[in-house]
Amino acid sequence: MRIVDLTHGFRAGMPAYGAAWYARFDLRRILTPDTDPAGQGRTFSQFVMNPHNATHVDAPSHFFPGAPGVAELDPAIFLGPAVVADLTHKGLREPITAADLDAVMGGEDLRGLRLLVRTDYLDRHWGDPDFWQKPPYLDATAAAWCVERGVRLVGLDCLTEEPGDRAFPVHRSLLGAGIPILEYIRNLAALRSRRVWLSALPIVVHGAEAAPVRAVALEGGTPDGPG
Ligand SMILES: [Zn+2]
Repeated sequence: MRIVDLTHGFRAGMPAYGAAWYARFDLRRILTPDTDPAGQGRTFSQFVMNPHNATHVDAPSHFFPGAPGVAELDPAIFLGPAVVADLTHKGLREPITAADLDAVMGGEDLRGLRLLVRTDYLDRHWGDPDFWQKPPYLDATAAAWCVERGVRLVGLDCLTEEPGDRAFPVHRSLLGAGIPILEYIRNLAALRSRRVWLSALPIVVHGAEAAPVRAVALEGGTPDGPG
């Protein structure tokens, strides 16, 4: 069994979405080996974290007050078979449409599966000053397609919405249908197969609309055996 890490991690000083209300990630050492009052050389850290800044899950409560937050989501959503949709031919600022998904997925039965949209955008462009302005993105027809096909989770390595679209049709469509969104995954190019076994459990934060995830794909088997 091969484990491929799909996680874009948090790091002090990492770029963040350029809005005044968007807190930048910070890791604070609240105790260091020099300041440990017990004299044991311990280290304790504290994070200031906006979960949306790196690999994370958006729960329905992100857009729908009163809808389930990350703590209420069934863990089974985030563990199990996933299929990769190869859309690496998509260029900057290009929408990914239902027709695009049809073209790469055909009539494949996706009911109950997790769909991973691969563009390699995050791998190629993270750190660019205009990272949030030029991504490929899903359009409303692609979101409707995912809902119709009955996918259980949508993961992507590009941006979910068209930059500047303040109506957020993709979030509204997916989250409104109870389909969580796994945002800011990376490293899909390292996968050898289209079908993998995904583990992408968000940490449990009661009352939160999103939470960080350690996302990994397993290839060539599952935790309980081959297949
Ligand atoms: Zn998010």
